[in-house]
Amino acid sequence: MALVVVGGVAAGLSAAARARRIDPRLEIVVLEQGPVISYGACGLPYFVEGRVREIAELIAYTPEYFRKERNIDVRTGARVIAISHPRREVVLESGAKVAYEKLIIATGARGGMPNLPGAQLPHVFTLYTLDDAARMRRFLRERRPKSAVVVGAGYIGVEAADALRRNGLRVTILERSAHALLRDDAGLTAAVRKQLERHGVELRTGVVVTAIEPDRVAGVPCDMVVLAAGFQPNVEIAAAAGIELGPSGAIRTDDRMETNLRGVFAAGDCAEVTHLVTGRPTWIPLGTTANKAGRVAGACAAGARERFAGIVGTSIVSVFGMGFATTGFSVAQARAEGFSPAVARIEANSRPRYYQGVKTMVELVADRTTRRLVGGSVIGEDGAAGRIDVIATALQTRMRVDEFEQLDLAYSPPFTPVWDPILIAAQQLIKELVA
Ligand code: FAD
Repeated sequence: MALVVVGGVAAGLSAAARARRIDPRLEIVVLEQGPVISYGACGLPYFVEGRVREIAELIAYTPEYFRKERNIDVRTGARVIAISHPRREVVLESGAKVAYEKLIIATGARGGMPNLPGAQLPHVFTLYTLDDAARMRRFLRERRPKSAVVVGAGYIGVEAADALRRNGLRVTILERSAHALLRDDAGLTAAVRKQLERHGVELRTGVVVTAIEPDRVAGVPCDMVVLAAGFQPNVEIAAAAGIELGPSGAIRTDDRMETNLRGVFAAGDCAEVTHLVTGRPTWIPLGTTANKAGRVAGACAAGARERFAGIVGTSIVSVFGMGFATTGFSVAQARAEGFSPAVARIEANSRPRYYQGVKTMVELVADRTTRRLVGGSVIGEDGAAGRIDVIATALQTRMRVDEFEQLDLAYSPPFTPVWDPILIAAQQLIKELVA
């Protein structure tokens, strides 16, 4: 009896590959509804931009590779429409049935507001699949649009806006909430807005889009529209099979990535994981988590005992070359999660001034009661990824700000200043905690 994996991208293939390593004889079948597997959705905006020339460059492995090199039976065009756990089988749209002993659900998530009036018009796009990106690129080349509206200021919306602006379009982003990058953080949103404006992109927040008209959205004239909002986990077949969903609406899992049905695992954008700052379930769909949680699901499904501890919600996005990196919680989010937050915000040079240092903004948030760090953000053209990764490590290891301030970090003028901006922020935060 086989291990069956539903979904053939980050989580599904990480799971299948890991299961193969654990058990060289296990029969493994991957069922993917689309025409391709193993592609990097994260690279789609750079294909739209033109930096990635061939869309095939975004595909890491083919089904043939998995068949030949890993002895994994990967089937494309295989859409699962139902799971019958009592019978231990999945039902495909074609009517075929595939029996399983263990099942991994890695069906990802979807977005794009398909029920919005006008969403099916030919100048309206999403940016989730290779087909989406190819269609958008073709439209740019053949129709030469002059202006675009992007709905949603999450990182996909912002990356799409950056890519379209670099193609010469006038771009306006419309966002329903008051925030950019899905973070309740007025300072971060102001910085994103400033950087977008410097490059000719307008960000309008608090705009609820109720329909798309052929030549405008919410009063903003445009030749094309990108829908980058309404992201939700693909859980319908799981829920119909009696698999429990968590508070976010994604599939509830334990630290082995197992669901409430024994022998059925879930990982990636369709599943919840534990937030290590709160200890509670969370849904932050990212490729980093999909790969790691997928590996654990695959190992456990193949009989090993591994666990996925959880995440702290770390991400980074480039907006016209400026890195916007966040981890854990903003002050407002920390308060909403029940912490009593103190915050420090500083601006410092990324390197010594005599070595062309550029301004870097750092925010650190700690809980007043425990002095533990619970969040942070870094904004800068230089070194933002490395700095947020240090803060993320501190969150993951439950470090107190007093320990963080003592970190032994590298220093040499071509890379960093003697007092790294994150340590300056920690010193400032310690002062705030006294106040
Ligand atoms: P997916 O990649 O969505 O794969 C799920 C697969 O399951 C799909 O191929 C789908 O066709 C298939 N499927 C669904 N239902 C069925 C069914 N019933 N039967 C058969 N097959 C089914 N993450 C980062 O960490 N950093 C980034 O910079 C980043 N940039 C991104 C940029 C863009 C434009 C996008 C769209 C995403 C980005 N991500 C990024 C997110 C990352 O791509 C996802 O988190 C990751 O792909 C999730 O992997 P997954 O395997 O869970 O789901």
